[in-house]
Amino acid sequence: MKALIAGGGIGGVTAALCLADAGIEVELYERASVFSEVGAGIQISPNGVKVLKRLGLAGALDAVAFRPEALEMRLGRSGMRIFSIPMRDEAVRRYSAPYYHIHRADLMRVLVDALRTRVPNAVHLDKEVQGYAQLNDSVTLAFTDNTRATGDVLIGADGIHSRIRAQMLGDAPARFTGNVAWRVVVPAPKLPEKLIPPTACIWVGPGRHAVTYYLRRGELINFVGVVERTDWQYESWTERGDQRDLAHDFKGWAKPITKLIEQAADCYRWALFDRDPLEEWCRGRVTLLGDACHSMLPFLAQGAVMSIEDAWVLSRQLKSARDIPAALKSYEAARKPRTSRVQLGARKQMGLYHKRSLPAQVATYGPVWLAAHVMPSFVHTRNDWLYSHDVTA
Ligand SMILES: Cc1cc2nc3c(=O)[nH]c(=O)nc-3n(C[C@H](O)[C@H](O)[C@H](O)COP(=O)(O)OP(=O)(O)OC[C@H]3O[C@@H](n4cnc5c(N)ncnc54)[C@H](O)[C@@H]3O)c2cc1C
Repeated sequence: MKALIAGGGIGGVTAALCLADAGIEVELYERASVFSEVGAGIQISPNGVKVLKRLGLAGALDAVAFRPEALEMRLGRSGMRIFSIPMRDEAVRRYSAPYYHIHRADLMRVLVDALRTRVPNAVHLDKEVQGYAQLNDSVTLAFTDNTRATGDVLIGADGIHSRIRAQMLGDAPARFTGNVAWRVVVPAPKLPEKLIPPTACIWVGPGRHAVTYYLRRGELINFVGVVERTDWQYESWTERGDQRDLAHDFKGWAKPITKLIEQAADCYRWALFDRDPLEEWCRGRVTLLGDACHSMLPFLAQGAVMSIEDAWVLSRQLKSARDIPAALKSYEAARKPRTSRVQLGARKQMGLYHKRSLPAQVATYGPVWLAAHVMPSFVHTRNDWLYSHDVTA
């Protein structure tokens, strides 16, 4: 069986690795001329790490990742801790895999190096997919350079604005969520030691929240600041913002946040879009994976992790498939309930993080604070459905 993959982001490259691991021939087509990821961090929770471990990448990831001591929530202005649950060793004990904070470029390098070593000729760069055509026994991709490629199955891993999805289901625009994300990476030595906690820390406030965590074994600090606003809707990882606007958005916040923003040499901003869960993901020999079929707000830090889970499940469904369309339907049935739950759960988190009034904050965070103090395992159990899931089991 030969699989064609459109798109070489985290989802597409992981799918190529999982399919190769299942003994399936793969060809991956990426429109960019080099594999690249932006200079920002990403959280890969244990449910995603389990797949990467099965692909033999644990050692390479451990060498470049940071493992947070805890997952924390704090009030943005006062810095008061609402809860903190251990995660460094606890992730391995409770979920059988570590929780990683990793620079996106490092993750991409580990994935691409592994793919190039295992399947040296699988990668085709500078190949922009225009569309596809399928027959009963094959599917053909057409590229903008007027070339074509034919295989047995096509996987659209071409992101939130997927052409494969648009051709399959119609070109519905993604939904602007009313949030803009600031993104900053600061070298750790620029800030006093221990100012930023060595955790995955969510700082909550009225109509906005921030997330801080370390990367590259502690060399870098990643900051994401999400602000509700509707006057700016440009979606690009490379769109620069003004540091003064960022400082204004988080004016009066606790020292770790304001000091970090003072050191922000390069600020980027990105309008956040998502989609409702799709009715269907596959037609015949063509299916979707990752943001192409379930783009979501990053408020549970699961977009890329879901694409990694998709990749494993799809490869196992195809591994010994005699009927490819039926195998793709099984993949969709196995994945959609979980990814839909995560998509909708991520939207719900916005209400939790962005409480505007003091009474609403007290009513929401008070019980969480109390529960975390009286029964710390309570907060852990809220994450169990997400992190304990093991698609490789
Ligand atoms: C601020 C922010 C923070 C986030 N934090 C996290 C986090 O901590 N953890 C997490 O799991 N997720 C996180 N996410 C989500 C995560 O970044 C995405 O879900 C993930 O990158 C999606 O991967 P993908 O491979 O499906 O799509 P993409 O990364 O969009 O990759 C699609 C690829 O397809 C290529 N392509 C597109 N069109 C074509 C075409 N026509 N022909 C050929 N190639 C094409 C593109 O060039 C690209 O390389 C975050 C997102 C944001 C915005």
